[in-house]
Amino acid sequence: MYKRDYYEVLGVSRNATEDEIKRAYRKLALKYHPDRNPGDKEAEERFKEAAEAYEVLRDPEKRQIYDRFGHEGLEGRGFTGFSGFEDIFSSFGDIFEEFFGFSTGRGRHTRARQGNSLRYDLKITLEEAFFGKEEEIVFQRLDLCESCNGTGLSPGSQPETCPTCQGRGQVIRSQGFFQISSTCPTCRGQGQIIKNPCQKCRGHGKTRIERRINVRIPPGVDTGSQLRLRGEGEPGEYGGPPGDLYVVIHVEEHPFFKREGDDLICEIPISFVQAALGDTIVIPSLGDDEGIELQIPPGSQPNEILKLSGKGMLSTTGRRRGDLYVKLQVKIPRRLTPKQRELLEIFAKTEDLNISQAKSKVKDFWKKIQR
Ligand SMILES: [Zn+2]
Ligand SMILES: [Zn+2]
Repeated sequence: MYKRDYYEVLGVSRNATEDEIKRAYRKLALKYHPDRNPGDKEAEERFKEAAEAYEVLRDPEKRQIYDRFGHEGLEGRGFTGFSGFEDIFSSFGDIFEEFFGFSTGRGRHTRARQGNSLRYDLKITLEEAFFGKEEEIVFQRLDLCESCNGTGLSPGSQPETCPTCQGRGQVIRSQGFFQISSTCPTCRGQGQIIKNPCQKCRGHGKTRIERRINVRIPPGVDTGSQLRLRGEGEPGEYGGPPGDLYVVIHVEEHPFFKREGDDLICEIPISFVQAALGDTIVIPSLGDDEGIELQIPPGSQPNEILKLSGKGMLSTTGRRRGDLYVKLQVKIPRRLTPKQRELLEIFAKTEDLNISQAKSKVKDFWKKIQR
């Protein structure tokens, strides 16, 4: 598509200062403003064109891209210009206010808008995350005023048509030799005013309330899991839907189990005799009050990890349980009784025998090679 050069559109030189660009745009915006040229397609195009040129040239980064690569360079970076007046007014609202001395937002204030969403951070234990739970949470939020049902009116009264704008929500003001419409300052674009406001909310239609709701936390949740409670956020504006409440889960650290996804990890101290001879011990497990049996095979090594399938957390995605990994901490006694020492010394002699046998095997091995 053919597009005019942005500098040409604004009628400035390629090395124009920011101030010159702003002044050039102000002039064009006033000249082609849609309120001054109702129904004029040509003026509408010029107004949009000038806004697009200004949007690019006022931004040093976009201007540099345009200087080097032209319109295509900007398109390649996702800049598409403006789709319509609403777009321009919402981007340049502040600039127009500065240009004209008042806002030219067109009916923006009366558009239905969804209420704000809220966040609630909830701490739970690992056990609670494992089993799931129901928790009552209490929080403050804005809600529709009970006594006026959100209308802002005192009982029995009706809203009245705004005398300033006769209900249009917009006022026309003359600026020099042309006219600009802007949001009515009396009714803020609503077209209606409240003569007898509700006592409780002073006409706002909303009050701060304390809300209590029961939240069902499903088994398997982890830190960062979010539960979305539709419609439990703040009420919408001008008939818009309410926002949502997000309950964000934080699972506290557990003194014994560490969690990694759906798996659990723990460390168990055992004696060097248990490691050498093997043993069956009972260890704690989530979901098993009596604990579960762990078979330590003979000849287990320090820091060896044993896996117990299906004894981890319940998966957040389905019914499957993760695994439990048990790390063996082999304890060496710091002190021995005389009896223990005697037995270990006997044991050591058997090891000496093993070592001397091993040594003779090594000698044989060398002899074989040297032959
Ligand atoms: Zn009220
Ligand atoms: Zn009004």
